[in-house]
Amino acid sequence: MIPFVDTHCHIDTYEKHAKESFASLWERLDTKPEAMVHVACDPEDFEYAKNICEKYSFLYAAYGVHPSCADTFNDEIETKLRQYLSLPKTVACGEIGLDYHYEGPSREVQKSIFDRQLRLGLEMGKPLVLHLREADEDSLSILRKAPLSGAKLHVHCYTGNPEFATELLQLPAEVFIGFTGIITFKNAQNVRDAAKIVPINRLLLETDAPYLAPVPYRGKPAHSGMIPIIAEHLAAIKEISLESLMSACRENTRLCYGI
Ligand SMILES: [Zn+2]
Repeated sequence: MIPFVDTHCHIDTYEKHAKESFASLWERLDTKPEAMVHVACDPEDFEYAKNICEKYSFLYAAYGVHPSCADTFNDEIETKLRQYLSLPKTVACGEIGLDYHYEGPSREVQKSIFDRQLRLGLEMGKPLVLHLREADEDSLSILRKAPLSGAKLHVHCYTGNPEFATELLQLPAEVFIGFTGIITFKNAQNVRDAAKIVPINRLLLETDAPYLAPVPYRGKPAHSGMIPIIAEHLAAIKEISLESLMSACRENTRLCYGI
């Protein structure tokens, strides 16, 4: 098996949702990732992320305030975010962005907090993990106004159509697009169509665990050991071998996250 990385998962949420500790999950995994990026999206969970990354050498973290709690962002949280973004095992700023699917903070609040964190991440020279859901126009308008030159973007858990992916790939940054178990869902043809047009050197593999487990595990808690299943589907979509797909994604992870 080619080494693989889960570029986006939520270990604390896995522990709660699956009622299993990370230590026990790690013990029982047959196919273990080489590394994992744990994403902390609520300031209350930042310390957990720091601690677990200190405990396991193969764990890295990303910190940001998710659009669903954008209304909690303030100066104090920005100061805290800066501190966590400066830690040695922090590989990215995020997930940040816009989510108009769920009823949450107002669009105006989401846009302003996305822009603020985007600029903070860019200023600190960190790759950005973007959560962009059903907000294509506003996302593009914020991204197009930001000083993206030299930046690395991971558009995580892609759920859009091929047209939005094309626009994102044209931004003046190194743009990577992450695909989860969603590409195995029957009703996700638009996401498979999008994957088809993303160049192989722009793909990332991620679970977004603990939700979105690929078929045939749909409904069960997702974990990083499921990456090879997602990779198999992505390889079929791209019409390349599983080995080529996995080694390309491994290299893309290095380029985006430096791990
Ligand atoms: Zn996530």
